[in-house]
Amino acid sequence: MAAEIRTFTCLTDNFGYLIHDPATKATASVDAPEAGPIIRALEREGWTLTDILITHHHGDHVGGVAELKQRYGCRVVAPHDKSTKIANVDLRVVNADVIKVGSLLARVVETPGHTLDHVSYVFDAEKVVFAADTLFSIGCGRVFEGNYPMMWDSLLKLRALPDDFRLYCGHEYTASNVKFALTVEPDNPALKARAEEVARLRAENKPTVPTLLGDEKKANVFLRADEPSVAARLHMKGADPAQIFGELRERKNKS
Ligand SMILES: [Zn+2]
Repeated sequence: MAAEIRTFTCLTDNFGYLIHDPATKATASVDAPEAGPIIRALEREGWTLTDILITHHHGDHVGGVAELKQRYGCRVVAPHDKSTKIANVDLRVVNADVIKVGSLLARVVETPGHTLDHVSYVFDAEKVVFAADTLFSIGCGRVFEGNYPMMWDSLLKLRALPDDFRLYCGHEYTASNVKFALTVEPDNPALKARAEEVARLRAENKPTVPTLLGDEKKANVFLRADEPSVAARLHMKGADPAQIFGELRERKNKS
């Protein structure tokens, strides 16, 4: 039986995600922005939380961990981080570790830049990636702790996943990301199509995730820093893609 995924809103614009294995009844929450919406989503489905997969230490991704762990006795998986900013952790993971959620397998991909500890979880068999605050739809996370080459390298790791993988990201920022991306690539047909789709989804109050990674590769300007046309738009022909990525990120910060 195929894994089931539920998407819902936490806090203001964080996404909550549950991934459920019908074969074993195991259920993981990817991050835990706050306990309430996660508990309600579990109760709607009649699922019990067995695991929490933490992507990084920011408060809007771990705020619900303590309450959920106390309530369900679930296992908490989090990135290895010597500063141990994340509490209540049972299992610390590093790049290429594979963890089980029931019979589902999640592969850990270290994607630092937004924070130094950031990891993404890839469910290869389900063709799903949870990229939290590294890769958003038509955007990417702010580079708080790492640097631009580090973040660009992390984006390249995610871009290397197959086109038919679905991207689940950490925040509903897509409309704002589209607005910025259009300032750089106003004539990109994939971006224009995505802009229309996002406007429709938001008007219906629906989430803009998941999206197909293949579509993101065509429309997300932050995954396209090594496209000659993007370099030309920024008057940076021949520059290093990581530098072009940095310029894009700084323009977005100011937008
Ligand atoms: Zn964050």
